[in-house]
Amino acid sequence: MKVSCPNCGRIHDVTGLAPHSHVTCVCGQVFRVPAMIQTARPTPSVDRPGLKTPSEAVWSLVLGIVGLPVSPICLGPLASIPGLILGYNARAKIDADPETFGGRGLANGAIVLNWVANVIWGLLLLAGLLFLAVGAVASQP
Ligand SMILES: [Zn+2]
Repeated sequence: MKVSCPNCGRIHDVTGLAPHSHVTCVCGQVFRVPAMIQTARPTPSVDRPGLKTPSEAVWSLVLGIVGLPVSPICLGPLASIPGLILGYNARAKIDADPETFGGRGLANGAIVLNWVANVIWGLLLLAGLLFLAVGAVASQP
């Protein structure tokens, strides 16, 4: 157990001393041994078991899948736009309270999936508009 002097920062070995007992530093500062002796602080890991995955992350992933054009149940941007919003909401929730919520990787995956679906639909829409425009020009007398 080591304590640094609050005045000069010198490290004092206070192993074996009772909490609140006085220690006199060479600089003249008298201080007390702290009562809370923490030998090993629990280090929070990124994905600890027992962390909840926000339901938004799961829904975002589901919407991202049904939003893809290759999905058997295809809802297109109707799914992938709210899916994207939910994905960002989930990630904000995880970042705001990492002690309660986990599943950041899932939320990130869902965000990417929804972006992919939205970009595909955006390109399809653009191609459709272009096709209509070309058709309109071609049908001019
Ligand atoms: Zn000192």
